[in-house]
Amino acid sequence: MLILLLFGPPGCGKGTQAAFLAERFHIPAISTGEMFRAERQAGTELGKLASEIMSKGGLVGDEIVDAMVASRISRPDCAGGFLLDGYPRTVPQAIAFSGLLQQRGLPSPVVIHLDVADDLLVARLTARRQCPRCKRIYNLLSQPPKVAGHCDDDGAALIAREDDREPVIRQRLRAYHELTGPILEWYGSSAVHRVDGGRAPDQVSRAIERVVVEAEKAAR
Ligand SMILES: [Zn+2]
Repeated sequence: MLILLLFGPPGCGKGTQAAFLAERFHIPAISTGEMFRAERQAGTELGKLASEIMSKGGLVGDEIVDAMVASRISRPDCAGGFLLDGYPRTVPQAIAFSGLLQQRGLPSPVVIHLDVADDLLVARLTARRQCPRCKRIYNLLSQPPKVAGHCDDDGAALIAREDDREPVIRQRLRAYHELTGPILEWYGSSAVHRVDGGRAPDQVSRAIERVVVEAEKAAR
């Protein structure tokens, strides 16, 4: 039984690593967004409650999110373990999750913190460009267009989206640190496995894989 929690700032490649871990360890990667959509589609009471709150522009409270996680990890595909991405999002959620695991006799989670310097994330994210016509995304550092400034597919002039401008990114990073810092502190530095996420994606994957394999050995 392998329970993984993945934390990392916007732009750190967390989605890529979640997909890698899911495949490598044969566990589902569960993001809160998918969980909400699944509950809504299944028409459960929790799903109805959550969509009602969100349709009014409200934030879904800890209790509902905790209940959704409890329900999701009861499904058969989680019997061998699971990865959570985007949860816990607050310290009270972390406390509730810890209580849930204890109550069900499940092992402590392996907490992975993908650490990337803010300046590197800003450099990566401000290098993003989009084609206004076909919406294709480029990155001047990692996936530049063949002709500078123009879409490979239709030749349209590429633009930087408002979301990819530095002040917006800095604000998102501040919000991330304010939210995630206390959660990582709550788990404690000895429980949190810090992985340098500033390297190439496959190197980051290898580093995380080593952390998980070691943690599994230690738990036996
Ligand atoms: Zn295009």
